[in-house]
Amino acid sequence: MNDFPAPDSLSNAVVISPVHCRRCGYNLYGLRADGLCPECGLAIWEAILHTVDPAASRLPKLHNAVVVGDALVWLMICLVVGALVLAARPVALWIDALDQSGLRNLSTWTPVELGFVAGLVGLGGLLSVRQMAPPKGRVRSGAPGRDVMLLGCGLASWAILVIAAVAWERSAGLRWVADALWLAMAAAAIVGLLGLHGVLGVIGLRSRAYRTARGGRQSIHAMVAAIVGIALGQVIQLTSELTGPGGGLLTVGTVITAISAFMLLIGLFYLVVNAWWIRRSLRRPPPSLDQILGPVEPNGL
Ligand SMILES: [Zn+2]
Repeated sequence: MNDFPAPDSLSNAVVISPVHCRRCGYNLYGLRADGLCPECGLAIWEAILHTVDPAASRLPKLHNAVVVGDALVWLMICLVVGALVLAARPVALWIDALDQSGLRNLSTWTPVELGFVAGLVGLGGLLSVRQMAPPKGRVRSGAPGRDVMLLGCGLASWAILVIAAVAWERSAGLRWVADALWLAMAAAAIVGLLGLHGVLGVIGLRSRAYRTARGGRQSIHAMVAAIVGIALGQVIQLTSELTGPGGGLLTVGTVITAISAFMLLIGLFYLVVNAWWIRRSLRRPPPSLDQILGPVEPNGL
């Protein structure tokens, strides 16, 4: 962790707010910052480092941190719900196809109109994107406007394309138009994710949990790869339909789509967790070093 400043001026500082020892919980209030815990001997500096987040406190404050935190969580929930609703019908059709007896008929429970719901949920997510934009005419301390714009445009196009594709499928229009709409959706989703990457890069810095998480921090690039995988699987399936049966191409396409969709859903769940970490830090920012440490009184101690 090179987050932290070198403890050079510690010898002149005392703890001026209740900070508890990391090992034994002893209240270190009033003790010198370069000392050791009187109960267990752990360096007091370690407790201070755990309490403050110097990297976050160096960043300019977001003017509406609470709103931005809520907006981020709302957006991720919309994305995961929209994706789940959209995935429900293909999964049901797939399970039905596996079932030779034909007794189970899950696809009747997942009508094609579910896609409308997914599109509307996506549009619902747009409500939160506006709130992440930096206020007009102010110094930019929030997410860069360009990234928020990409995120908003990607999400809006995705939602509209979903609704259009479902409407087209219901009207039993030409098959290749529906396929083209689905591929365009993948492109829109990638544009939105690239915007989200920028937004998280700026807002997420305020959360130490997000900044320093290794395994738990969702990579946006992995999600872009998953979407490319879904689109590729679709193209392979389409090719197999055009070239006629045989040659296992259909299975390859189906497997690639299924695995990629599964990866994408997992990624979306992780994003909800990441957004929750960021929201927590935005609502209760860690104290800065000068709130924890004060100068040694010249007459005392
Ligand atoms: Zn202790």
